[in-house]
Amino acid sequence: MAEGRIIKALSGFYYVQTKDKIYQCRGRGVFRNKNITPLVGDYVTFDESNPDEGYIQEINSRTNELVRPPIANIDQAIIVSSVVTPEFSTLLLDRFLVLIESKDIKPVIFITKMDVITDEQVKQIEGYEKIYREIGYPVELLSSKRASELTGLEHYFTDKISVFAGQSGVGKSSLLNALKPSLLLKTGDVSKSLGRGKHTTRHVELVKINGGLVADTPGFSSLEFNEIVMEELTDCFPEMRERKESCKFRGCMHHKEPKCAIKQAVDQGEIAHFRYEHYLTFLEEIQNRKPRY
Ligand code: GDP
Ligand code: ZN
Repeated sequence: MAEGRIIKALSGFYYVQTKDKIYQCRGRGVFRNKNITPLVGDYVTFDESNPDEGYIQEINSRTNELVRPPIANIDQAIIVSSVVTPEFSTLLLDRFLVLIESKDIKPVIFITKMDVITDEQVKQIEGYEKIYREIGYPVELLSSKRASELTGLEHYFTDKISVFAGQSGVGKSSLLNALKPSLLLKTGDVSKSLGRGKHTTRHVELVKINGGLVADTPGFSSLEFNEIVMEELTDCFPEMRERKESCKFRGCMHHKEPKCAIKQAVDQGEIAHFRYEHYLTFLEEIQNRKPRY
C-alpha cells in the first residue's frame, strides 16, 4: 500500500502524487456504493498494481470540498479583483468572501491591474486595502504586467492548495502565467483554462507553484448563497463574528433588534458601513430565497 494526494482526475483515472512519482490510479467501485467519489486534493491510500499504476483503496476524511471545481482539502481561496475592466466592486468581493468563509476556506485578496489607474484611484484602493486588512484578510495590490510586484507573493502558495476565484477578465490566468510562465494558460479567452468555469470542470488539475499546488480552474463559479442559512451569515463576516456574543438577544440578526453590538460598532465606525450594508443585502437575499425542493 502507498499513500499520496490526487492532483488530477481525467477520464476515469486519478493521478496520485507520492513523494517520488505520480501513479495513474483507478477508483474501486466501493466508493460509488458509499456515495463518495475520489476528488482532486484527496489524500488516498492505494495499492500499486504495477510500478506506475494502482487502485485507490481509501480516501482520508476531508477538511472541505468544492463542487465546482471538484476539489477537496483546499487551504485557501485567492480572490482576484481588478481595479478596472471589470471595475472594482466591494459588493462582489464581499460575496466571494462570504462564499469562501462559509466553506471554511481561508480567503486571500489580490487586487490586480494597479498599473492602469490614476494616483487618486490608487488612494481609494489603498483605503479598501486598509479596511480589509483590519478585518484580518491578507490583501495584495499588484500588476501582472510588472513582474517586480509579484516577487514576495511566493509565501502565499508554499505548502498549500489554493483555488483562484473571481470574475472573468480580472486577470486570474495572467497572474498564474506570470507566477509560472511554463503553465501558458491562454489569457483573455473565457473558453480556455481558468476561464472555462461552467463546462469542463471535471478536468481540474493541481499545478505546482512556488512549493504549493494551485487549481487550474477557478472556484466559486456560482455566486448564489444556496447553501448558506441566515444564522450562518454573521459568521461569514469576521468583524461581526467576533462581536456577536455582545448582542442582547441570542440569535440576533443585527437588523431590527435593539441593543445590537454589531449596529453599535457600525455607528461607532468600528465596522465599515458598506460591509454592514452588504450583510443586510445578503441577509435579505437568503430570506427571500425560494425553497429548493
Ligand atoms: P481571467 O479571465 O481572470 O483569467 O483574466 P485574464 O488573465 O484572461 O485577463 C483579462 C485581460 O486583462 C487580459 O487582456 C489581460 O492581459 C489583462 N490583464 C490581466 N492582468 C492585468 C494587469 O495586472 N494589468 C493590466 N494592465 N492588464 C491585465
Ligand atoms: Zn446583533
